[in-house]
Amino acid sequence: MTSPSSDIGELDPPQLERLLRESGYEPFHARQLYRWMHRHGVADFDQMTNLSKELRAELKGRFTVGRPQIVSDQLSTDGTRKLVLELGDRRRIESVFIPDTPAMTFCVSTQVGCAMSCGFCLTGKMGLVRHLTAGEIVGQVVTLATATGLLDQPFNIVLMGMGEPLHNYDNTMKALRMLHAEEGLAISPRRITLSTVGIVPGLERLAREPLMPNLAISLHATTEEQRTALVPPNAKYSLAAILDACRRFPLKRRSRITFEYVLLNGVNDTPEDARRLAKLLSGIKAKVNLIPLNAAPGIPFERPSDSRIDRFAQILADRHLTVSVRKSRGRDIRAACGQLIVEGGSKKSAAQQMALLLH
Ligand code: SF4
Repeated sequence: MTSPSSDIGELDPPQLERLLRESGYEPFHARQLYRWMHRHGVADFDQMTNLSKELRAELKGRFTVGRPQIVSDQLSTDGTRKLVLELGDRRRIESVFIPDTPAMTFCVSTQVGCAMSCGFCLTGKMGLVRHLTAGEIVGQVVTLATATGLLDQPFNIVLMGMGEPLHNYDNTMKALRMLHAEEGLAISPRRITLSTVGIVPGLERLAREPLMPNLAISLHATTEEQRTALVPPNAKYSLAAILDACRRFPLKRRSRITFEYVLLNGVNDTPEDARRLAKLLSGIKAKVNLIPLNAAPGIPFERPSDSRIDRFAQILADRHLTVSVRKSRGRDIRAACGQLIVEGGSKKSAAQQMALLLH
C-alpha cells in the first residue's frame, strides 16, 4: 500500500478505495474502514472487528488515524462547551458545542490562527500559523461528536471558529465532502454553514460546487472605508465586489445568505449604518445576524447598549429584512462571542477564544 500521508484519516472514500484496491482488497473494505473511522469514531485498527486480521495488521504497520485530542473541556451553565483540541504537531485549536439553538451545533476551526487581521479579533493578530488539513477538520467534528454523544444524531456545523475557510479552500471543501460521505457521518450540506469575510475568487468557486453549504458573509460595515479598517481583506475584495458575487450566488429555493454584523458601540451601530446596510442588501435574498460585541481586554471596541442594538435591528426589520440578534452563550466559561482573555490564560488561548463565533 502507498499513501501520500501515513494518516489514513486524510483520505476521502474514493482515495481510500483506490488505496485498498491497489493492495488487492475489495472496495467494500474501504467502506468498512471509512465507517469505523468517521461514523463510529474509532481510531484503533484493532477495534475494527469486521476487517480481516491480515488487513488490520497491514493498516497498523503503515498508517495511523489522526484524531485531535481534547486537552480541555469547559462546560457553561447554559450547556455550551468549549473544547481545546491538540493536533498531531501539538498546535491547538478551539471548538465550541452549542446545544439547543434549537439544533445541536458545533462551531469548528479551519486554520490555526488567521491571516485576515480583522480589527476586533485577536486571532487576526496571531497571523496564520497553518491551514488545517481536511482530515483535521473532519477529525475535529468526529472528536466533538464523540465527546457530546452525538455521533449517531443530527447536528449542525458552523465554520466560524479560528480561520477563514475560503483561505483554506481545498482542504475545507474536501472536509465537507468527507463529512457528507454516506459511509461517514452523512451530514447534509443544509446543516453546514460556511462563514467568510468574502474572498471573492473563493465565493466564485463555491458557487460552482456540487456540494453547497449555507453561506454566511461577515460584513461588519457599510462603507468601503470603514470595512477596510475593520476587515482588511476588503482592500482587495471590496464590499461592492462581495455583494455583487452574492447577487450572482446560486441559492436554492427558500435559502438565503446570512450577513453577520458585529455591532461596535459608536463605530458601526448608528441609524445611518442600519439604513445603509438595508440598502446594500436590497436585491439579495438575505437575513442579518447582529452580533453585539462582548467587550474584552485587548480589543479597542465596546458593546453597544441594548437600546442601540434594538434601534439598529428595528430599522432593518422596518425595511423587511429578517434580522436576529445573536444571543451570547457560554459567558461564564468565556466561550461566548468575543469573550476572551481568561485570567492567567496564555495569549494564544485568548486569541483562539476571540475568533470563535465572531467572523
Ligand atoms: S474574525 Fe475570523 S476572519 Fe477575521 S481575523 Fe478573526 S478568525 Fe480571521
